[in-house]
Amino acid sequence: MKKLLAAFSAAILVLTLASCGTQKQSVSVEAMDTFMKIEYYGDESVGEKLTGEIKRLDSLFSVTDKNSEVYALNRDKEVKPSDDLSALLKRSLTLCDRLDGALDVTILPVVEKWGFLSGKYRVPEKQEIQSALKVVNYKNIEVDNDKVKLKNNAKLDLGAVAKGYAADKCLEILGDNNVETSLLNLGGTIAVHGRKPDGTPWRVGIADPDNPSDYIGFVSCSDKVVATSGGYERYFEKDGRRYIHIIDTQTGFPSDNGIASVTVISDSGTLSDALSTALFVKGLDGAREYHRDNPDFDYVILTTDKKLYISEGIVNDFTLSESDRYEVVKN
Ligand code: AMP
Ligand code: MG
Repeated sequence: MKKLLAAFSAAILVLTLASCGTQKQSVSVEAMDTFMKIEYYGDESVGEKLTGEIKRLDSLFSVTDKNSEVYALNRDKEVKPSDDLSALLKRSLTLCDRLDGALDVTILPVVEKWGFLSGKYRVPEKQEIQSALKVVNYKNIEVDNDKVKLKNNAKLDLGAVAKGYAADKCLEILGDNNVETSLLNLGGTIAVHGRKPDGTPWRVGIADPDNPSDYIGFVSCSDKVVATSGGYERYFEKDGRRYIHIIDTQTGFPSDNGIASVTVISDSGTLSDALSTALFVKGLDGAREYHRDNPDFDYVILTTDKKLYISEGIVNDFTLSESDRYEVVKN
């Protein structure tokens, strides 16, 4: 009887450990033009659900995959949207509006002119940029539940928000599967959920724009999505000038306003991702002004003159790794 009890309690212990999700799991996937890695404590099968979800979203939102929903929309100018396309578009359009068009998910024709889609980089003539800019206006997108329409020959590019949306969907799956601790690195968009098994919060590194495999500092946080937009992520150089993949929607030129990177920390992946791109375009003053009016996020902004601007909400959670490289300016 004693033996039976011992075996029974051992079985309960194993079950409890398994259901507490103490097993560290790690999965990776290449999607959305980047490498993604997810670590979590829980059941092995959750990993497949997460990578499956990311691949599914990639196959909806890709602008280059001829079978994607966005590709069909850009070609046919009208589709019956999936729930995800409809949800992400509605959220994006609200943000484009709130950000006065610094975020514009119809930027694709301009992105194409600079060769960022094909990888055949070039500096277009001003005339070409002007004509591409004419069709850039998020107001050309009409969304209702059973139809999305692109007016005036507009083209959709969800590149600025798709990883953040994918992070939100993955966090939903983790929640549904009772995973309490996870770290998702979706290529520059990092979601941290719960605390590390030793009880301490996650530390998210902020890349050094001059040497992106190094970190200039760390933000400690839990249950947040941390998205960084950096000029160093994709760019080309011509005649001594650097042209980055983040486009100033006013000029059609790659953003060149003294910003090196913008990191946004908020409760929502879609919000963090949208804001990191848009505040990069807005520049330092525009970004700080936007934050004063919309304080539902925190930021770390690095400028090319080696200053680090940090919002008040995270000052105490931030540690600089090399204190002499950047001058810290608190807001
Ligand atoms: P992210 O890496 O999140 O900053 O997003 C950059 C991507 O978003 C680019 O590769 C473009 O596809 C797209 N993009 C560039 N500039 C803008 C902009 N001003 N508004 C919306 N999307 C943009
Ligand atoms: Mg973004």
